[in-house]
Amino acid sequence: MGLTGLVPAGATSGAAATAEGSQRAAGSLRMAVDAVGGASALRGLKTFQYRAGAERSILDEGAVPGSGASPAATVEARVRYRLKGSRPPRVRIDNVRTSLGVDRPVREVLSGRRGYISGVDANFSQPATKAMTSDRWAAIHREQELLNPHVLLSRALDRPSLASNGGQRTIDGRRYRVLVLRDAVAPIELFVDVRKERIAMLRTTQHDYLRRDVPVEVTYRGWRREDDGVRFPRRVALTSDGFEMVRERRTEVDVNPRIKSRVFRFPSAVDPVYDADLADIGTRTSEWLLSFVALGFIKDGGQRAINPITITDGTTTAAGVKLLGGVANNSLVVQRPGGVVVFEGALHDHRAEAVIQYIEDSPDFTGPITHVVTTHHHADHASGMRPYVALGATAVVGEQAVPFFQQVFADRGSTVLPDRLDGTTVAANVQGVPAAGLSLPNGIQVFPLQTEHSVDMVVPYVADQGILFTSDTYSPPGLPSPSDANAQAIAAMVKARGLTPKWIAGGHGTFISYAAFKAALGIP
Ligand SMILES: [Zn+2]
Ligand SMILES: [Zn+2]
Repeated sequence: MGLTGLVPAGATSGAAATAEGSQRAAGSLRMAVDAVGGASALRGLKTFQYRAGAERSILDEGAVPGSGASPAATVEARVRYRLKGSRPPRVRIDNVRTSLGVDRPVREVLSGRRGYISGVDANFSQPATKAMTSDRWAAIHREQELLNPHVLLSRALDRPSLASNGGQRTIDGRRYRVLVLRDAVAPIELFVDVRKERIAMLRTTQHDYLRRDVPVEVTYRGWRREDDGVRFPRRVALTSDGFEMVRERRTEVDVNPRIKSRVFRFPSAVDPVYDADLADIGTRTSEWLLSFVALGFIKDGGQRAINPITITDGTTTAAGVKLLGGVANNSLVVQRPGGVVVFEGALHDHRAEAVIQYIEDSPDFTGPITHVVTTHHHADHASGMRPYVALGATAVVGEQAVPFFQQVFADRGSTVLPDRLDGTTVAANVQGVPAAGLSLPNGIQVFPLQTEHSVDMVVPYVADQGILFTSDTYSPPGLPSPSDANAQAIAAMVKARGLTPKWIAGGHGTFISYAAFKAALGIP
C-alpha cells in the first residue's frame, strides 16, 4: 500500500473512529450470529451432538518430498458438546478410527482443563485408559471450534471486544462480509456469504513444523435449521496449507439434547495434570498433532523425555554413541573427533532442543554438533532439523529431498511458533546423499536405500562402531520375517556396499545385533 493510503481524506477524530469501529464490529458479529440462527438462539444453545463420518489426511508422510497430503484414517465419530455450565466447554468424542486396515475404537473426554482417553489410541496397542496430555486436550478444543463456529460465536457474544469488522470481500464472484475474531494464535476470520446469509468459511493460521506457519481454511456447506432455531452445517472440510486434512459429513444433528453429567465423568484411575505450555503448543499445532492421532502414531505430550540407551550385548559395547529413546521417534547421537553427529532431527524443535540440551550436559559428548542426518523427509522424522541447522550443523538428506529441505530451512519468519532458526540469517548447509553414497570426513557414511516407503530414504552408518541406523524400513529388536522386502533390501545394501555392521539401531524401537537380524532373514 502506498503511503497516501494510510490516512484517508477527512479522517474522523480518534474517539469517533473508535465508536464507528465498534459499531461496524457489532454489525459484523450480528450478521455472523444471525447466519447461525440469531443471538437468542445462540445464547440458548446449551448442548449439541451429532455423528460425523470423516476422511482424514496427513501432510508429508507420502513417498515423494513436498507432495502434500496422504490418507491417514477414516473416522466414525459421535460428538457430544456441553457449551454452557462449564468453561472451557465439555466435549466427548467416541471415535472409531480406521487406519492400516484396523478399527480402533477410542473415546476422548474433555472436561475443565483436563481430559482422558480410553480405547485403542495407537496402532498395534491394547485398549487402555490414560490421562490426556494438555497438547492433545488443547488441539481437540481448537479443532472442534474450527469445525463448529457456534463455539467461537458464542464466546464472542459473551465478549464482544473479541470481534472486529473485516470488511467486504469478493472471492470467485461471491460477496462476503468478514468478521475477525481476536485469538491468542492468529486472527480467526469468518466469511458470511452475503446473498445466502450463511457462514461459508473460516480462515486462520496455524503451525506445521515442516511447512511452518500455514493457512488453515474451513468450509461449511448444507446448513440446516435445527430445533430451537440454531443452524448447523452438514458438510465441513478443513484444509491446511491448501491440502484437505478433514472432510466430514454429519448426521443426527441434535440441538440442546439432554446430556447426562456422567458422560463427561473421569474414571478414578486417571489423574490428568494441566500443563499451560503444552496446551499452548497444542492450540498452535492442532492439525499437525491430530493428523498423527488419526494415523495412530501418537506424538502427544511434548516428546521431550530422554532415555539414553547404550548399545551393548553385555560383552561388547558400542563406543561414543547413545540411542536417545523415551519418545515416539529416536535419535542416535555419535561422538566424532571433530564434534557430534545426530541421526534424525526427529519430531519437532521441542524434541530437538531437549536432545541439544542432553548433548550439552552429557560428559560423553563434546564439541559442536557438526551434522544432522535425516533418514527421510517424513514429518515425524525430520521436523526437528531446524534447531541443529541454527547451530551451524550441516543437514545430510537423501538427494531427492534437497530442494524440499532448502525450503524448510529458508523460512525464518514464523510468528505462530518460532524456533531457534527463526529470525536468524544463519546459512543452511544441505548436503544430498548421491546414488553412490556419501562418506563424511568424520567417518560417517550414508547410503541410499530403495524402498516404497519414501524415495529419499537413506541409511547412515558409523563404520568404526559397525552401527547401521534404520527408520520405518526395519524397527529393532523384533526379528524380521524372510518375506520382509525392506529388511531384505537393507541386507542386500550391506552386502553390495561391503559393510560389516555389528548392530542395527532404529529410529523406532531399540537395537539388535546384525547377526540376529541376518539369521532371521535366512541369510548365511
Ligand atoms: Zn516414514
Ligand atoms: Zn517412522
